[in-house]
Parts: sequence; C-alpha cells; structure tokens
Amino acid sequence: MQKKQELYAGKAKSVYTTDDPDRLVLLFRNDTSAFDGEKKAQLDRKGAVNNRFNAFIMQRLAASGIETHFEKLLANDESLVKKLKMFPVECVVRNIAAGSICRRLGVQEGVDLNPPTFEFFLKNDALHDPMINEYHIRSFGWARDHEVAQMKELTFKVNDVLKRLFADAGMLLVDYKLEFGDFHGRVVLGDEFTPDGCRLWDVATRKKLDKDRFRQGLGGVVEAYEEVAHRLGVDLSGI
Ligand code: ADP
Ligand code: UDP
Repeated sequence: MQKKQELYAGKAKSVYTTDDPDRLVLLFRNDTSAFDGEKKAQLDRKGAVNNRFNAFIMQRLAASGIETHFEKLLANDESLVKKLKMFPVECVVRNIAAGSICRRLGVQEGVDLNPPTFEFFLKNDALHDPMINEYHIRSFGWARDHEVAQMKELTFKVNDVLKRLFADAGMLLVDYKLEFGDFHGRVVLGDEFTPDGCRLWDVATRKKLDKDRFRQGLGGVVEAYEEVAHRLGVDLSGI
C-alpha cells in the first residue's frame, strides 16, 4: 500500500492518504502532549510501542465482534486503517474516578464507579474538548440517534472485553477514550487504544502505568507503556 499525501497531523499521530480511497496510513509519532498541548515532549520509542499496542488491542476487540478500523501493521510506527468519517465526539467510560471527573465533581481519585459512567466530549482543542450530552450531538448534527446509541453500546462492550483483559494481567482499567467514525453506513471504532488514551493502574500497588505519568511528571512513561505491553503479551520485538 502506497503512502501518499499527509491529510492531517494531529498532536500524536499523522494521517496519510493511500492509493485506496477507503484506506489511510496512521503514523504514530513520538510526540506527547497534555493539557491541550501546553505540555509537550518527544518520548523515544513511544510511537512504535503505541502502534504495536494499538494493533494488539484492536485485534482483540475485532475477535470479540467489535468492528475496528485496524487492517494491518505496515512498519514499526505505521498501520493501515479504514478511512472513516469521524464523528467529532469522544466517548469516555470510567470504572474508577480519576482526572477531569474529580475536578468537575469534587470526587476523590480512586472512588469506584458502580455502574461505570459514560461521558461525551466534543473534539475541539480550541474549546478544550467540552463535555456535551446526547441532545447537543443531535441538535448540532454531529451524529444521528442510531449512531449515538451504537457509540455508547460499543464503548461499553469494549469495557467488558478490556476490563477482563487488563485484570488478567494484574491491572485496573480506570477509564478510556474512544473515537468512532462512519464506514459505508457502519459505526466503526477508529483512532487508537493505547496508554496515551486510557488510565491503567497496577492492581496491587495502584501504580500508574499510563499517560498520567507524563501529565504528573512521574517519569518512566514509555517504560510503563512497555511494562503494560509485556504483561499483555504484545510483541515489541524489533523496536
Ligand atoms: P488529535 O487530532 O486529537 O491531535 P491525533 O494526533 O491522534 O489526535 O490525530 C489523529 C487524527 O486522526 C484524529 O483527529 C482522529 O480523529 C483521526 N483518525 C483516527 N482514525 C481515523 C480513521 N480511521 N479515519 C479517519 N480519521 C481518523
Ligand atoms: N482522553 C484522551 N484524549 C482527550 C481527553 C481524554 O485520550 O482529549 C482520555 C484520558 O487519557 C483518560 C480519559 O480519556 O483516560 C478521561 O480523560 P479525562 O476526562 O479525565 O481528562 P484528563 O484529566 O485526562 O485530561
């Protein structure tokens, strides 16, 4: 598959067209950012680790009946994906309170959320990704009712699959963000699932093994991502 023009360079990934109008190349870069791009760094190996990590998770989700955009690994830091028409919303499920929900609602980090809670955010850096509800999505036409229903259903289905996967490897899946898009009328999981977009804690020590290590200046960011990958059995050979 021939990589052609750069379509878009985001904060952590770049997107390229290919000779197939239905396929894109996703390049996972070492760029890392937090707080709407205010804190930035280059983290050696991160792009390649996340690319392999994402491939592993997307394949597990596909095996559980969740359609994803992932097609195949092309290089250490590149994957071929289906070209989706992305819905401009982020779907977040939380099993344990952490991050913005603590700041917004004054709850303590670490409180169990039973049942898990769901939040929509608008993908808009200039507005700092504000939280939105289903009525906003409907009224502004960001997605249709059945698409909203499917995004919620699929995001919870991902929780069932991944909570167990991480638990079996000694980790708590605290929360995560997913993005979906339309592919020929189907709602398909896009973007990435990596420690850049979720929170993972060691079950025994509650050590943070995700991007909070970068946000909070804890160090050992990529080392933590690699530890998670090793525990899951993700193949990191050659990177
Ligand atoms: P951001 O845009 O938030 O800075 P990234 O650096 O991760 O994020 O950029 C990747 C961009 O590619 C995101 O805007 C994401 O919505 C988009 N994207 C991810 N997967 C696909 C896909 N399969 N088809 C089209 N766009 C995608
Ligand atoms: N998240 C993300 N991209 C965003 C916002 C959030 O990947 O633009 C992830 C984040 O890593 C966490 C979850 O979504 O796993 C919930 O994030 P939260 O709302 O707590 O925001 P944060 O405090 O992490 O900015």
